Amino acid sequence: MNNVFVYLEIEGTTVADVSLELLTKGRKLATRLGCRLEAIAAGSGLDGIEAQVMPYGVDTLHVFDAPGLAPYTSMPHASILINLFKEEKPQVCLMGATVVGRDLGPRVSSALTSGLTADCTALEIGNHEDKRAGKVYKDLLYQIRPAFGGNIVATIINPEHRPQMATVREGVMKKEILDPAYKGETIRHDVAKYVRDTDYVVKVIDRHVEKAKHNLKGAPIVVAGGYGMGSKEGFDMLFELAKELHAEVGASRAAVDAGFADHDRQIGQTGVTVRPKLYIACGISGQIQHIAGMQESGIIISINNDPNAPINSIADYVIEGSVEEVIPKMIKYYKSHTK
Ligand SMILES: Cc1cc2nc3c(=O)[nH]c(=O)nc-3n(C[C@H](O)[C@H](O)[C@H](O)COP(=O)(O)OP(=O)(O)OC[C@H]3O[C@@H](n4cnc5c(N)ncnc54)[C@H](O)[C@@H]3O)c2cc1C
Repeated sequence: MNNVFVYLEIEGTTVADVSLELLTKGRKLATRLGCRLEAIAAGSGLDGIEAQVMPYGVDTLHVFDAPGLAPYTSMPHASILINLFKEEKPQVCLMGATVVGRDLGPRVSSALTSGLTADCTALEIGNHEDKRAGKVYKDLLYQIRPAFGGNIVATIINPEHRPQMATVREGVMKKEILDPAYKGETIRHDVAKYVRDTDYVVKVIDRHVEKAKHNLKGAPIVVAGGYGMGSKEGFDMLFELAKELHAEVGASRAAVDAGFADHDRQIGQTGVTVRPKLYIACGISGQIQHIAGMQESGIIISINNDPNAPINSIADYVIEGSVEEVIPKMIKYYKSHTK
C-alpha cells in the first residue's frame, strides 16, 4: 500500500533501459518517501527478470507470466495494472514514454481516474499549499515537463487522486545499480485472476522490429547539426567529422524539418535524449526544446556565428565562427592527429 511502482517494459526476456532508468529514479523517490519500490513484470518466460532488476533496489517484484502476455498487447497488460493497483493502491506509478507506455498509461489512468503527466523531464517530491482551501498536501510527486510549446517548464501535481502517474522518455533519467546484491521479494501472481479471457482477443500473428540504424543514445561523442548547417550537404561535413571522432551525428528539429537529416537523429523534447561525454553543437541556436535533450552532456562545445546564441550560455566552450569555416579545419586537424 502507498508504494512507488514501476511498470517494466520487456522485449523478449530483457528489461528495457528506460525501465531500469525509472527503477533508479523510483528507488530514490521511494527512499525519500519512506516507502517500498515495487516493479511489475508482465510477459512470457520471465525467469531471468529478477536478476536484471533487483540490483536497482526493487523491494517487491510482481511477476505475471503467461504465454498470452508477450508480445505486448493493450488489454491484458492494462487489466493487470488496473486490478493490481486496485489491491495495492500505489501512490506513484512510473512507465516509459514509449510506444507501449503511451498506450498503457492512459488506459490505466482513465480506468482509475488518476490522471497522468506524459513526457516528464524531472520528478521530485515536495509539498503543495492550496491557500484557497487552506490545505497543505505533503510529499506529492512533482511531475516536471516543458509546457505551452516549451515556453515554460511546468510542475504538475495531482493532490487528490492516486496513483500519481508519469511517463518519462528513454535517456532522461540516469540508470544506476544500487547494490548488485540487493534482494527484494518476488510475488508470482495467478494471471487468470487479473486478466479475463476476452482480454486476449487481439493476437499478434507477425511482428517486424527494425533495428536502429545508429547508436545515437549510447554514443560517447555526438556531433549535432542545426539549421545553421544550411543543407544536407552541410551535414555531410558532420558525418565526416563524426567519422574522425568515432561519434554519432544528431540534429535539431529545424534541421530535420528542412530535410538535412533523418528524423530518427532528432535530439530534444520530441526527439531522443542523449548524455554523451562530448556534445558538439554546430549551427544550433539552443532553444529550450533542443536543450531538453542534451543538457546532461559532459562537455558541450558550440560552434555558432552568433555570439549571443542561447546555446552558448550552457556551453563549456564556444567557437565563434561559421560552420563552413570551422568544421573543415576540425576535420583536417583530427585527420592529421588521429592516425
Ligand atoms: C512542441 C515543440 C517541440 C519541439 N521539439 C524539438 C526537439 O525535440 N528538438 C529540437 O531541436 N527542436 C525542437 N523544437 C523546435 C525548437 O523550438 C527550435 O525551433 C529548434 O530547436 C531550432 O533549431 P536550430 O537551432 O537548428 O535552428 P535555428 O533556431 O534557426 O538556429 C540556427 C542557428 O545556427 C546559427 N547559424 C546560422 N548560420 C550559421 C553558420 N553559417 N555558421 C554557424 N552558425 C550558424 C544561427 O546563429 C542560429 O543560432 C520544438 C518546438 C516545439 C514547439
